[in-house]
Amino acid sequence: MSGFQSHLGDFQSPRPDESNKEPTAKVAKSSADRKKLDTQTPLQFVPGVGPLRLELFQKLGVRRPLDLLFLFPRTYQDIAPYQGIAELVPGIRATVVGQIVDLDQRFSFDGRSTLGVLLAIEGGGYVRCVWYNQMFRREQFHRGITLVATGIPKSTGISFEMRHPEFVILNDRSELPAPRPTAIYPLTEGLSQKHISSAIEAALEDLLPFVEEALPDRIRQRAGELLFEKKRTLFEQQPQPLLGITDALRALHLPETLADAEQARMRFIFQELLVYQMAIAMRRYQLQKDNAAPSLAVTPQLHARILKRIPFKPTNDQLRVIEEVKSDLERTIPMNRLVQGDVGSGKTVIAHYAMLAAVGNKYQAAMMAPTELLARQHYEKLRQQLDGSQVMVELLVGSLSSREQHELQQRIAIGTVDIVVGTQALLSQHVQFHALGLVVIDEQHKFGVEQRAALREGRVVPHYLVLSATPIPRSITMTLFGDLDVSILREKPPGRARVHTYLGEDSQKAKWWDFVRKQLQSGRQAYVVIPRVESDEENDILGAEQVFAVLSETELSGFRVELLHGRMDGDEKQQKLNRFETGETQVLIATTVVEVGIDVPNATLMAILDADRLGLAQLHQLRGRVSRGQFPGYVCLFPSKKCDPKENERLQCLIAIDDGFRLAEEDLRLRGTGDLLGTKQVGAPAFRIADLARDIEILAAARSVAQNLINEDPALEAPDLAKLRKQVLGRHGGHANLGDVG
Ligand code: ADP
Ligand code: MG
Repeated sequence: MSGFQSHLGDFQSPRPDESNKEPTAKVAKSSADRKKLDTQTPLQFVPGVGPLRLELFQKLGVRRPLDLLFLFPRTYQDIAPYQGIAELVPGIRATVVGQIVDLDQRFSFDGRSTLGVLLAIEGGGYVRCVWYNQMFRREQFHRGITLVATGIPKSTGISFEMRHPEFVILNDRSELPAPRPTAIYPLTEGLSQKHISSAIEAALEDLLPFVEEALPDRIRQRAGELLFEKKRTLFEQQPQPLLGITDALRALHLPETLADAEQARMRFIFQELLVYQMAIAMRRYQLQKDNAAPSLAVTPQLHARILKRIPFKPTNDQLRVIEEVKSDLERTIPMNRLVQGDVGSGKTVIAHYAMLAAVGNKYQAAMMAPTELLARQHYEKLRQQLDGSQVMVELLVGSLSSREQHELQQRIAIGTVDIVVGTQALLSQHVQFHALGLVVIDEQHKFGVEQRAALREGRVVPHYLVLSATPIPRSITMTLFGDLDVSILREKPPGRARVHTYLGEDSQKAKWWDFVRKQLQSGRQAYVVIPRVESDEENDILGAEQVFAVLSETELSGFRVELLHGRMDGDEKQQKLNRFETGETQVLIATTVVEVGIDVPNATLMAILDADRLGLAQLHQLRGRVSRGQFPGYVCLFPSKKCDPKENERLQCLIAIDDGFRLAEEDLRLRGTGDLLGTKQVGAPAFRIADLARDIEILAAARSVAQNLINEDPALEAPDLAKLRKQVLGRHGGHANLGDVG
């Protein structure tokens, strides 16, 4: 871990006026006798750290005293502000409450005096408080009065002693201070909360003057207003600016109330998200400034010609997105648009429109799909729609012979091919376009971030249209795909019947298959989906091959059943798929290869075996296969043997929710961001304190502020942004290719 302050705070030369400020820490310090810490003080000299615990603190990422201030509490606990005997640690400042049970005084012959007060601590045990040469205090103490004493306990073997503690005499138990929130820090073995909080307390006031504010007033003010508008604020009456860095750090570590702590957290969460959003906004600005794409204007005539090629009337939603794409294509700023829409929402037509717009402007278009199966399907559909036109469409996939590929590459390079549909094979160096105007990426969530970037780094700068059928929570879109404009298709094409989703408990199995057979007899078709190709005997999981063998002999005997999985070669898969499309095959038993793209409106039944082994997004995607026509769809989720469906919240979610966007939010809540972004999405930011599932409003505020800042001042040259700019470049420069900005 690197030093935290490079991210959220930093040095500056000390400001003498502030460094003299009275500390407002919860326990006034007897620091007069202690040398003040500064940024140069070696970490081991911070009280509470010491040479013994130095390494442990380093494990937490604390290298310099200043790092302590940016050690973020994990949570807060309302804890009594005083300790019982069992909680005392020698050498660590503590506060105890006790009744005076004994007093002793001694004078040595050279005139020095010792005053001892023995406290019986609440909950048991004793602490002796000692004062040297302060015999005047004798007057203050009597047996029976209650004392709150704060000092550094020293073990005397049988009890504890505190020298010269600060103290308050209580007239009454009710004067005891109320419990207050105590910061709970992430731990590492060997370090207790007490160690960490003492070190932070010791460092806090001394070092606060060295921490520089990265967020100028105007930003904190604006953020406060935005959060107020979104009701994500603790102030009901009027907006308040976010806390300044000094107040925020104090409230983070030593809050008076939980609301204080929350305010502090809000400021740091905002800052973390702002820095990231600014990096995105800067990169986006840079891309647009440096690159020019061809202007692909769509005249009313071209528009009409394109729509004539589309076999149905687009919905209003589709027309709206088409308009958005149309105006993007006309500009020379490269389009960078993500179309999100639930499965079956009809995204393809947007892609077709854009591709034909490019071709109508004498540019080429490429469409990349994650699987060969899907690429072929897109290809066939386009061929059909363009039947009798001049537009030349070709398919470029890995299973072509190298001669075929080579020949096709040549035709792409001289420009006799207008539209190329393909797989990752399109990314090959050998594919050189004559005049590429548009790239469409279908089912973009199936590609990693890197592949998306790879296509972008071509020799020409085409427009980009990205389609995603996995509705992504808004917060993820804003971060991971923050550099994309987003269009959302919510309206489904007309005439779609609903999908019914059930949980296939053992008692229901026979009923389900009965139902399937009846539906098959009345002409419908069915999918059976199995997560694995081969059985896993150890875990009692059947593979697609075994399920195929069993079902075709039992529940589905007498029906035309076929098996499809990813390990079959392209032609074989295509043939099987064709037979399913024509209705020759009634039941397709398949792995999750059928998850994307397959479009057989007559298939209305789907059984998903071992459904708990699949993610929500994937299950929803699969379900989308049976809601493509006028007949209602039926999905039955069969949990694996090891799964208690009642406990499987995810399956229950799927049954209850059929809107993909709501489901995605739910998924985020259930799994957290780490998991959702998964390993596929390399390059996903790891936030230290922000939580994308929780902090959506703060994220939206940060995004809005970031975009305004970059629009007004693309290079962040304003003097009051210097600090923030450094953080943006320091934290995300590499990740977001910002190295050249500064
Ligand atoms: P997806 O968004 O999942 O890619 P598709 O574009 O494949 O969805 O569309 C799903 C199905 O809906 C296709 O059969 C398509 O022809 C049909 N479709 C799309 N839009 C409309 C529409 N406006 N009217 C009628 N059918 C439509
Ligand atoms: Mg699609």
